[in-house]
Amino acid sequence: MNKSDECDIVKDLAAPYVENLINSKSKKFVEEHLKNCDNCKKYYNDINSNILNESHNEKIKEKHELDFLKKIRKNMSILKILLFVILTIIVVVILSIFIKCQTVTKIVNDAYEQIEYLKTLDNYKLVEKTITTNYPDNDTSEIIATYYYKDGKYKNEYGNTTCYYEDNSYNKIYVYLDLKQIDYHTQNFIENNKGETFETFYEIISYKQLSGLFNLLLSIRTDKFNGIDCYVIRNGNNNSYREIWIDKETNTVLRRIEENYSKYYRETIYTLVENQVTDEDVSSSILDTEQYKDYTRNNTTYNATKEIKNTYNTEN
Ligand SMILES: [Zn+2]
Repeated sequence: MNKSDECDIVKDLAAPYVENLINSKSKKFVEEHLKNCDNCKKYYNDINSNILNESHNEKIKEKHELDFLKKIRKNMSILKILLFVILTIIVVVILSIFIKCQTVTKIVNDAYEQIEYLKTLDNYKLVEKTITTNYPDNDTSEIIATYYYKDGKYKNEYGNTTCYYEDNSYNKIYVYLDLKQIDYHTQNFIENNKGETFETFYEIISYKQLSGLFNLLLSIRTDKFNGIDCYVIRNGNNNSYREIWIDKETNTVLRRIEENYSKYYRETIYTLVENQVTDEDVSSSILDTEQYKDYTRNNTTYNATKEIKNTYNTEN
């Protein structure tokens, strides 16, 4: 075999040699030839380095693929964490809305129960002191209304007017101190029921009736009023708000605040005293005494239409 033929054979064997697919005899033949032939040796080296490069490239490619997969996996876990956080936030928000609703409902219900209880009282005096400050001049006025009640009889004092009446009665006596005038008033329907005085806490009554999702509009906080721990139910917006202050311990309404930021601030303070009203406090017989002898006396009657009578009857 001449040199050139040998070279051809050795070159043909290059691929199987490099991949180690030839028998030991051929392998030995190739290696012997490479020792003496620089040309073939170079050919073999080139192939080797090509294969190395290829495998190197392969490795880099694999590494890239792996990195890509890792990245996806990492992104997926970030997504999972994000989803978890979002879900947690949603659950917390829903739960806190639910809890807030429950809290408001409970406070309103307790205050309402207390009103229902107060309505059953047979002897009380309720003082309602209202201070109004008008904006922007800040001029302030104060009005005190006092309600006396004992065993079915009322005396209400409001400014210069005093009113005597009884539960389930058609008659009322109005005394106008400034006019020195007494009106004996009769109407053809019953206006008053026991406990109606406490309908002055009408906000609580309406919150109780509305309840449910409406309670979301109300905010609750705790605060102190004259050293008493109170729940404060607030309902408001950018222009105005209302607040009802409720004694935490007794559930009784102690204070009402109403403010319209551009018009007025009004505050009403309620003081309830039980079992101190005397028969004299609610008796109109004082009107027969010397003190009232120069008062003008009138009889007035009011015949309400059927519709008005029905309004009172449905309320009763
Ligand atoms: Zn050769």
